[in-house]
Amino acid sequence: MNWEPWTGCYQISDGCTYCYFYGPHAKRCGQNTIQKTDKFDWPVRTNTKGEYNIKGNKILATCFATDFFLPEADEWRKDAWSMIKQRSDINFLILTKRIDRFPVSLPSDWGDGYDNVSIGCTVENQSLADYRLPLFLSYPIKRRFIACSPILESINLSAYLHGIEHVTVSGESGRDARECDYGWVLDIREQCVKANVTFWFKGTGTFFKRDGTVEKINPFKQGSIARELDISILNGKKLF
Ligand code: SF4
Repeated sequence: MNWEPWTGCYQISDGCTYCYFYGPHAKRCGQNTIQKTDKFDWPVRTNTKGEYNIKGNKILATCFATDFFLPEADEWRKDAWSMIKQRSDINFLILTKRIDRFPVSLPSDWGDGYDNVSIGCTVENQSLADYRLPLFLSYPIKRRFIACSPILESINLSAYLHGIEHVTVSGESGRDARECDYGWVLDIREQCVKANVTFWFKGTGTFFKRDGTVEKINPFKQGSIARELDISILNGKKLF
């Protein structure tokens, strides 16, 4: 289940080049105006009996079609944090390419983090890993994961895996997608094994290189082929 309190976004780093939502071939391409959606207060909306419309014990993927930490949303984010606090029975999963903006508009009672918030820091290459992950680890966040998505080169995460619960890797999708080399994926898996961190190979991307050959993979098969390779180590964890 997704909650998109606002819509619109724009490129911040290399992984955004062919963004699924706002890239050159996306339906929402050019939608750089950031605006609230009519679902802004959805997590706290109630029915006529005063019960929440969204029942508890759920994982709510938050801002997966925009970025929770966009500067244009700094004021709205204060209200979003307040709703997140109110719905302590829901786990809010936030994925961002703007982790350096995490401290902006953080609630005064945040302390060492809300229990019901998992934050995923996206890193698509080594230089972004080296910039974003030290910041990510320095912030008070109770549940952290890393998303190498889309993975664009070999990445060494070893120095940053302490305090990380989980790593997800996926290749880039789309007609202009850059290659995803299976060797990079296996290498990150090995780093996770050594650090005792769960690992999910979520999707191959469109151009998947394995055993020296690049295969073009239909978008509907990228997840199932990754699954068939059977390299994920989830230990019963359910992220989405
Ligand atoms: S931050 Fe995410 S949603 Fe925004 S342009 Fe980049 S990939 Fe797209």
